[in-house]
Amino acid sequence: MTGVEVHKAVDAAAALSDEGLIALRRDIHRHPELAGGEARTAALVADRLRAAGLAVDTGVGGHGVVTVVDGLLDGAGSGPTLLYRADMDAVADDERYVSDFASQVPGAAHLCGHDLHTAIGVGVAETLARLRDRLAGRVVVVFQPAEETLEGAQAMIDDGVLDRYPAREAYALHCAPLPVGVITAMPGAGHPGQDTCHFELAGPGAADAGRRLLQQVAELTTVTRPGSAEDFAALLSALQTPDGPLARFVFADSRLNADADPVTADVWLRAWPESRHPELREQLRQLAAGAGATVTFPGPPFPAMVCSPAHTEAAAAYLRDDPSVDTVMTMHAAWPFSGEDFGLFLHRAPGAMFWLGVADPGAGVNGIPHAPDFAADERAIGIGVRAMAGLLLHRLHAA
Ligand SMILES: [Zn+2]
Repeated sequence: MTGVEVHKAVDAAAALSDEGLIALRRDIHRHPELAGGEARTAALVADRLRAAGLAVDTGVGGHGVVTVVDGLLDGAGSGPTLLYRADMDAVADDERYVSDFASQVPGAAHLCGHDLHTAIGVGVAETLARLRDRLAGRVVVVFQPAEETLEGAQAMIDDGVLDRYPAREAYALHCAPLPVGVITAMPGAGHPGQDTCHFELAGPGAADAGRRLLQQVAELTTVTRPGSAEDFAALLSALQTPDGPLARFVFADSRLNADADPVTADVWLRAWPESRHPELREQLRQLAAGAGATVTFPGPPFPAMVCSPAHTEAAAAYLRDDPSVDTVMTMHAAWPFSGEDFGLFLHRAPGAMFWLGVADPGAGVNGIPHAPDFAADERAIGIGVRAMAGLLLHRLHAA
């Protein structure tokens, strides 16, 4: 199938889902569930998928849901398996954006857009199910719990999802504060992992020594969160620059418990590339020694999410010809301020995550993940479904 044929088929099949997906997204938005507690969301998803005639596995790695769209094209049984992943959990915070589908749960809100991701995942499965006779292989759609705690991907993998469905490639989307209609490819980039470090200081003056120690840790940081539209524009430009200012970075967060005895301090460190973690651990050990603190690392650093350059470039080439996408931007550096456990799927099946623009600044819709006034333009749902269903159909036909 040519790109135009793929797009036409997908556009017609996706149109049958559009209105229902916005209603589904709003239902999930009203009833947000925190990491590990996604029972209602998972049940909604499973019901929708069954109604589309799809077989569904539930309770995978917690509240994970998995469905398989088997192709019917000649030889589909010997065709490749591709994986598409959506995450389902909400953020532990209250939302400020006013809407008639606002969160009804105090202390929980879909401030990271996973409600959109879930609706898009359902739309991708429904759309591909309608196009079975054109699928040369199978697509596994995975609805993951507990992304915010970086536990859900590992839990689903430990539960055997990739053993039952060995995927050749894996893809996903994440909402981003870019105009609706924009999709961003990140060849060789993505999201940093995270290292965690615990200090303890005893004796008189420990609290002050702890403050000085965290000041020294803060000096390792080379990037700051954007605080204004100008900052954000500068960050966006840096992200698009190959070998630019974000080719290497360190971002540290910390918390001091000065009233504890002994005084404790915890540090969360994000770095790019992730090969820098051993060197950074050595620096933290030296700072601890200088402060008279003990230092421990509770475990290995959480891995970075790195998009495969070849698969990302191939996908971006397809998406540039997809009329449902206005603009495909390319980011050459990783977003320094958050992690993403989709990287664990990419360790087993190379592929890509894309940022999906959901902002409409003129309408006060900022699309900034984790901002208390996060809001998303729902046109992004239909765009995401068409882009990802089309990409998957296209990739099934790729050698
Ligand atoms: Zn997220």
